[in-house]
Amino acid sequence: MSTQRATTNEAVEADDEYDPYGVVPDSFVEEMNEHAGETISTIPAALDVAERLPSTTDNRDRRRCPSCRGYAIQHKTAMSRRENQKPGSWKCPCGHHFNTPLPSLNECDAAADELARLVEFLETGSPE
Ligand SMILES: [Zn+2]
Repeated sequence: MSTQRATTNEAVEADDEYDPYGVVPDSFVEEMNEHAGETISTIPAALDVAERLPSTTDNRDRRRCPSCRGYAIQHKTAMSRRENQKPGSWKCPCGHHFNTPLPSLNECDAAADELARLVEFLETGSPE
């Protein structure tokens, strides 16, 4: 019983270190624990699990893999470092590693609108 208590105290101290302002809900680690394949008790471990969960962001707002244009890209700094890791700060399930994701479809649409306005201006000599 005393070892159980010691483990809990260690986890609480680690949480204070990673969440000094107390902004992470107490239930966060518990919730991520349900998604993890292993038992986790610290905020960094919970964040690691959260990063791997399917995103709830609209696909049109998500940046994409420059190789296959897929959405399931992961930022590597949120994951544990591995030996012989390929260069590039992002990676895709297709096997591509890269530093700069493609912009989201919404960002592309905004850029296309801007370009259309510029072309209009060049053709007519007046804005709008
Ligand atoms: Zn890809």
